[in-house]
Formats: sequence, C-alpha cells, structure tokens
Amino acid sequence: MTAPRRPPTRLVLLGHPVSQSLSPVFQNAALAHAGLAARYETMDVPPERVRETLESLAAEGAAGNVTIPHKEQARATCSRVTPLADRVGAVNTFWPDDDGALCGDNTDVGGFDELVLTALDAPPSGVRVALLGAGGSAAAVLAAVERWPGCEVAVWGRGGERGRALAERFGRIASAAATPDAALTGARIVVNATPVGLAADSAMPVDAAQLPPDAVVVDLVYRRDGAPTEFVRRARERGLRAVDGLPMLIAQGALAFERWFGFAPDREVMWRSVR
Ligand code: NAP
Repeated sequence: MTAPRRPPTRLVLLGHPVSQSLSPVFQNAALAHAGLAARYETMDVPPERVRETLESLAAEGAAGNVTIPHKEQARATCSRVTPLADRVGAVNTFWPDDDGALCGDNTDVGGFDELVLTALDAPPSGVRVALLGAGGSAAAVLAAVERWPGCEVAVWGRGGERGRALAERFGRIASAAATPDAALTGARIVVNATPVGLAADSAMPVDAAQLPPDAVVVDLVYRRDGAPTEFVRRARERGLRAVDGLPMLIAQGALAFERWFGFAPDREVMWRSVR
C-alpha cells in the first residue's frame, strides 16, 4: 500500500480525550520544515462517531492518526489495512487511497522497535520480555517481539482475562502471567504498556525493587514536561537502563508521515520542537 498520489492537505488526530497530545507540535514542525501547506490538528471524537468521522475525512482527502480509545474501531472501519495492522488488530495511521478508500497501518510496532533500540546495544534476540498491560499497545509490542528471533513474552493484565486472550492470540511467543511478579521472573526487558505514570504522579506499574538486576525498562508512557516517568526514574536509581515513551512517539509519528507523503520527515526538526 503506497502513499496517496495527491498528498493530504489536512491531517487529523482522532482521540477521546486528545488535547494532551504532543503530536501536533512535532508534526506541524515537520510539515513546515518540508514546505508542506497541510496542518495537523486534534479532534476529540466519542466512540459512536469514529466510523462516520473517518469516512468523511477520507472523502475530503484528509489523513491522520488515531489514538486511545479508537485504534481497534479504526481497524474495523478501514477498507484496506497492512498485514501488520491486521496482526495487531489496531490502526493508528490512516489515509485515503487514490479511489478514496480508507487505508490503515500500525506504526506503533515500528515505533516500539526503535524505542527498544535506544535502550539496547543490539537488536534483541533470545530474551524473555515481561509485558505489563494487555491493551492495544501491548498487542503492538507482541507484534514487534514476534519478529525478534527466539524471544518469549510473559503478559500480565490486571483483569486476568484480557491478558490471557492476548497471550493466546500470540501463542507462539506469549504466555499469560498471573501476577506482575510472575511476569518479571527472568525478564531481560520489562515493558510498561499500561497508562500508569501518565498522571505524572508517583504511581508505578510494579515496584522498581522487584525488577531483575539486569533488566532493561521500556516505559511506553512519557511525560509532556519531558521529565522521566517515575518508573524510569526509579529503575535508573537502581542502576538499570531505562527509557520512556517519547522516542516511540516521535518514531511512530515519523513512520506515519512517510505513509502520508511517501518520504521521511526531518526527525531532528521533530525532536527540537518537543525539547
Ligand atoms: P489500552 O488499550 O487502554 O490498554 C491499557 C492496559 O493497561 C489495559 O490492559 C488496562 O487494563 C491496563 N491498565 C489500565 N490502568 C491500569 C492500572 N492502573 N494498573 C494496571 N493496569 C492498568 O491503552 P493502550 O493503547 O494499550 O495504551 C497504554 C499506554 O501506552 C497509554 O496510556 C500511553 O501512555 C502508552 N502509549 C504510548 C505510545 C507512544 O508512542 N509512546 C503509543 C501507544 C501507547 P484493563 O483492560 O483492565 O483496563
């Protein structure tokens, strides 16, 4: 699936809520730097209006992103999706093709891959991953790990059932853990895919003292003020390598830009705008 021949003149991020997003900041910086007239805006859309909104945006030639809680519904609304978006079961990037049909991809997977590489010296292989959370971004993490050689994932979801269902869907590499501690046992990479830490308070998905001594912490959450999340801060205090979700946000946004326009944005411009 290629970028539309006629580049989109409007880019929209659909979410609920969505006003807190940093995406307009770095996407508009990249658009201006590339000399493109399109602007990137947010649109707060309740779940019952997602389908009609996406369809009407596609009809007017607009493209964009989808965030919490609409990614699964966006996948269901798209007429064509990439195999990766299909595997994840969620779309975070959409655009109309030349016939106006709504196309979708999931760039969170590539964004997560890039985030992990900021924390490790080499691409992961043969390691055990503890995955905290069982929602849409946890599915993107599993779709990424599935492509790493010889890795396995212990998935913990607080309700039990959602974690078990997700682990079953990725059964070749994943198994459900009954408790966070069970998920952490032997883990070399610990991923926080819950929203814990978003509120910029001292909450943590698991006690940092429980982290294995050689674990690398990958927190999908990031703080708007640029400070490390509490989970990252406490892991670093213990001497562990730890990264928050800002590099993933920039990476998934840069990959989405490529889907819309067919060329890569200037990532340094994106970074400068959020620093
Ligand atoms: P989601 O689909 O709503 O899933 C969230 C998961 O976290 C669910 O399993 C949920 O459990 C669990 N959870 C919620 N509150 C919790 C708590 N207090 N304690 C333990 N578990 C809790 O959301 P998502 O799309 O996966 O996104 C999760 C977070 O990842 C977001 O908040 C966002 O900060 C981050 N994210 C970052 C990026 C990035 O680019 N950096 C991209 C995507 C997501 P229940 O099912 O029981 O509610």
